[in-house]
Amino acid sequence: MSAAAPQLVIRGAIVLRATPEGLELAEAIGIADGRVVAAGRRDDVPVPAGARVVDVGPRAVIPGLHDFHIHLVDLARSTRSLRFNEDPDGGAVAARVAEAAAALPPRAWIRGRGWSEVQLGGATPALEEATGGRPTWLMSHDGHSAWASAAARRLAGLHAATPDPDGGRIERDEHGEPTGVLRERAMDLVSEHVARVQGSELRDSLDLTLRALAGHGITGASEAGDYTDRNGVGADADLGDSASSLTDLGDLIDGRLRLSIGIPADAIAAAAARGLRTGVAVPDRRTLRIGWAKHYTDGALGSGTAALFGPGGEPAGILRVTPERLADDAALARPAGIGLALHAIGDRAIAVALDAFEGAPARMPGAPMDRIEHVQLLRPPDAPRFARAGVVASVQPIHAAADRDLVERHWAERADDAYAWRRLRTVGALLVAGSDAPVEDVDPWLGIHAAVHRRFPDDDRGDWRTGEGLTLPEALSAYTVAAAIAVGAPDEGHLRVGARADLAVLNADLSTVLRADDELASVHAELTLVDGREVPRS
Ligand SMILES: [Zn+2]
Repeated sequence: MSAAAPQLVIRGAIVLRATPEGLELAEAIGIADGRVVAAGRRDDVPVPAGARVVDVGPRAVIPGLHDFHIHLVDLARSTRSLRFNEDPDGGAVAARVAEAAAALPPRAWIRGRGWSEVQLGGATPALEEATGGRPTWLMSHDGHSAWASAAARRLAGLHAATPDPDGGRIERDEHGEPTGVLRERAMDLVSEHVARVQGSELRDSLDLTLRALAGHGITGASEAGDYTDRNGVGADADLGDSASSLTDLGDLIDGRLRLSIGIPADAIAAAAARGLRTGVAVPDRRTLRIGWAKHYTDGALGSGTAALFGPGGEPAGILRVTPERLADDAALARPAGIGLALHAIGDRAIAVALDAFEGAPARMPGAPMDRIEHVQLLRPPDAPRFARAGVVASVQPIHAAADRDLVERHWAERADDAYAWRRLRTVGALLVAGSDAPVEDVDPWLGIHAAVHRRFPDDDRGDWRTGEGLTLPEALSAYTVAAAIAVGAPDEGHLRVGARADLAVLNADLSTVLRADDELASVHAELTLVDGREVPRS
């Protein structure tokens, strides 16, 4: 217990701690030197002379939310590239590309993201024309496919005779000519040649992105890592594009967001050689730590590349990495204290990822748990393996809302196994929630809503398969305490005495939050603190 006198006292409807079983509440907390030093009823938290009092009445005060799977660098970048999420068809996508092309010099790259298979079907000739011969790189909605224009393919040396790489596919027309659509590892053939905004060039966009996170009440995040170590910048270039860009901008982030910075699996050896371990602070930074090493075990539902078991148990879809490589990397990472985060969407990919963890050497004492990202289609017998092996189920509830039509179309007879969060909870797996932004909206209130209702607030078709949905306390726990457990930080994710004062004062009453209806869509933070200090928000 700290004996320090509060410098700041907050009174309101305070959620001290959210567990799956329920919310622990208080009327007031006192904060000194960045930590909670008193909590309880109003009279339990005296106000010393000179202390500041913030009384928010019935409004909710919550532990700051943690986005456990975010692509922060891509999210910052996406504020300056084209986004097609709202465009009705391929014609609209092409029109926006043409508009962008008209504003650019002839050889400049056009970048965009967010197209769906429905939009792009048959539209690639129109897209090609819209680029005006400029190298163009457009990522799909799920980020597991991309379209490269003829100029981009020429720069990358990709032509009709180029074979499909392992773990990837080059889509071709009836004459065998590439259409420009590249799946999974085939994207790597071109993506390394794409001009990208990195490091300090991202400063202004990242600043805006950090303000947006604070405005949602987010005080913590886990950068979801990278697919290669070959695109880095600056002092940490060997850790890949996103990690090196983030450490390059560490001064901008520090004190505003408690951020775990993921690295690509290719960088495990480099990180281990430098003594970097998961959960350990980045040198000279207060709120930055090293995150997990990422592998993409399979593709995604939207691109049709998730690795599945067919009806007879036969393999389908794309496995991007061999089980042998996963075993090698687990054997390298475990003794080095580096946790693995394995992207696995299809049931076969999840089984392969669990096999790798079960076969790996024991974790170092005190090392954070390994994690499986997305867990979108889960065979019932694989659920208890998460709890047994101590593997975090890192889920993004908003994917269920976004994918409900895809699931009904492609996985209909398996729909009970899709986004099976209740099943994972029942067997005692640690369920942690995130957004996968910029693939989906970063707003955690849409995520919490989707965890409960499995739809978007403006989806008027009613809730979707809520048997596998979560209660509000379970959802809030997945965005707070559960993330802190996964990171290995017992003084984060709650506001009991001794905790770091990372919190959000909401614009909504606690009763609104507890009701968890469509009003969640308009919840935001009116004050956000990290280490007891207000951070700028939008
Ligand atoms: Zn992701």
